[in-house]
Amino acid sequence: MQRSGGVLDTIGSTPLVELRRLDTGPCRLFVKLENQNPTGSIKDRIGLSMIEAAERDGRIKPGGTLIEATAGNTGLGLALVAAQKGYRLILVIPDKMAQEKVLHLKALGAEVRITRSDVGKGHPEYYQDIAERLASETPNSFYVNQFANPANPMAHEATTAPEIWAQTGQMLDAVVVGVGSGGTLTGLSRYFARVAPHVEMVLADPLGSILTDVVRTGSIHKEAGSWLVEGIGEDFVPPNCDLSRVRTAYEISDAESFATARELLAREGILGGSSTGTLLAAALRYCRAQTAPRRVVSFVCDSGNKYLSKMYNDFWMFDQGLLERPREGSLLDLIV
Ligand code: PMP
Repeated sequence: MQRSGGVLDTIGSTPLVELRRLDTGPCRLFVKLENQNPTGSIKDRIGLSMIEAAERDGRIKPGGTLIEATAGNTGLGLALVAAQKGYRLILVIPDKMAQEKVLHLKALGAEVRITRSDVGKGHPEYYQDIAERLASETPNSFYVNQFANPANPMAHEATTAPEIWAQTGQMLDAVVVGVGSGGTLTGLSRYFARVAPHVEMVLADPLGSILTDVVRTGSIHKEAGSWLVEGIGEDFVPPNCDLSRVRTAYEISDAESFATARELLAREGILGGSSTGTLLAAALRYCRAQTAPRRVVSFVCDSGNKYLSKMYNDFWMFDQGLLERPREGSLLDLIV
């Protein structure tokens, strides 16, 4: 991959760590620590690849404006790269996203427009439709569009996948991924289809997303519900999402995702975000269902720092009905 200098050189080449204390059945389960990228998520990889591809194609010129619809992490990756390279960046973000992400984006110099999270594609206030409209109205702008931009899956095909293949010593049986844009799934699928076609692609999907149903039936039947896990799960199949190599999909509730992320921290000392909980819950179900030993990789997609006031906060968990209030003692005992 082309190196860009400075902090941008620290994107990717993340560690792969084996989980030692969680029950992984007959399998060995490894997680790739994408939280160690400079803004704390896997999306730094595509922030860099999408901007550098657009520079190469002449779609961004000096002084240009980048526009994107993002749940936050892609925005952070883009904001880092845009700031380093001197581009203006406007981001459209649904209002359910963690405040820490929004504050981080603003601190990096991005302009943030918040919109409703409770409307779907085709609604004038849907975040992707707003971004597309803004791009058509803003001179010298480029709509990054992670959902269809080929440089998104390409980043994972060119960097994430070969890193995993090398780090596992070319001994790998399955990868468990979530889908936001589908870039990770599609990039890894393409690489392993070419290099090691026996590697199974397993989908981890929030309960309420339509994607598990698409994997099981081959078409879209149901309307999306809502979920609290951030960054994964979809109400449509993005152009960048190729589900064709996925045979197994697990639907994971918010409660199970959050409990699993908290267990990952308590047992393994890894502070992951909410989607990490979904991926790990699916990976554990997959591992425990195996009858033969297999080597499985999943991801810590982003850092749990952004979620300290949400899923790592017992009071927030009580309010969401995701944790039982203690029956004895004082709630004040929970404040350290
Ligand atoms: N986890 C988190 C926290 C994310 O922000 C995203 C991307 N929105 C993903 C996982 C999924 O990655 P992808 O877009 O490659 O499907």
